[in-house]
Amino acid sequence: MTPLLEVEDLRITFPTRHGTSHPVDGVSFSVARGELLALVGESGCGKSLTSLALLRLVPPPGQIQPGSAIRLDGTDVLGLGPEELRSIRGRRIGMIFQDPMTSLNPVFTIADQIGESVRAHQKVSKRAARARALELLQEVGIPDPTQRLDVYPHQMSGGMRQRVMIAIALASEPEMLIADEPTTALDVTVQAQILELLDGLRAARGMAVLLITHDLGIVAGRADRVAVMYAGRLVEEAATAELFARPSHPYTKGLLASVPRITGAVTRLTPIAGTVPAPTAWPAGCRFHPRCPAALPRCATDDPPALPVGNAHRMRCWLAEAGRA
Ligand code: SF4
Repeated sequence: MTPLLEVEDLRITFPTRHGTSHPVDGVSFSVARGELLALVGESGCGKSLTSLALLRLVPPPGQIQPGSAIRLDGTDVLGLGPEELRSIRGRRIGMIFQDPMTSLNPVFTIADQIGESVRAHQKVSKRAARARALELLQEVGIPDPTQRLDVYPHQMSGGMRQRVMIAIALASEPEMLIADEPTTALDVTVQAQILELLDGLRAARGMAVLLITHDLGIVAGRADRVAVMYAGRLVEEAATAELFARPSHPYTKGLLASVPRITGAVTRLTPIAGTVPAPTAWPAGCRFHPRCPAALPRCATDDPPALPVGNAHRMRCWLAEAGRA
């Protein structure tokens, strides 16, 4: 598949009272047209900042460092002027977040808010925008869409509000959708419905999806590929089936062990010991070594590069070199 989005050696820094913070520190990945890539990691690993950087929305005083590259269909996103950047934000790349209530305006109806998004991208009348809003509500599976056009966000459930956010993002016919923890605030049944909807839209529209999540459990059977992020870097990347069949990095194994499983009547959950270190002082050597149950003596001093462990399967861990993955 031809890459739609290419990210190379992305580095983001923030000046802080405790020195320079490096929350994203040399991240490279690509997303093909129509592909669903899941970017997975604990909170604080840099995955949300990575997604904001794709639209040049890193909050100040954060800075994308020289040498970083982001290309959309070959266009250098970091070199674009304000006008060209607007043509990418919300138009070629749409974005949805965890909590739709913070993105939806409480004093406008659903029709107004979807209609505004339609009119921001197409020169159409208010009447035509309302008709398009109805079509989009149907496409995202809102029941009784004609009745829902004139309600306010607080009159909808969390799952329906997230569907509305997806409809707003789709109004510009984006080539790519970034979904940052889109189901975290929802109950498990509704989570599954929203993920199915994203997967269906990806297939129907040929739209690429970058799904950002802390929950490795939700990507199985949905994502094409998974990239696992830890301490500002990708530590393992593989096709989803391969990653679940052969999780190789100790951090990925830890994430999988912390996904709740029902064993008879018991839910087993094994959290990863310790916490993500601060981005102002990443540990020397392998950044995971203070928490790693498989650490070798060299792990405290030598930083592992990305090493192959299988077909299109790579990880940053010395166990790959030792053939012990
Ligand atoms: Fe663990 Fe060493 Fe691999 Fe890091 S390089 S994940 S410390 S075994």
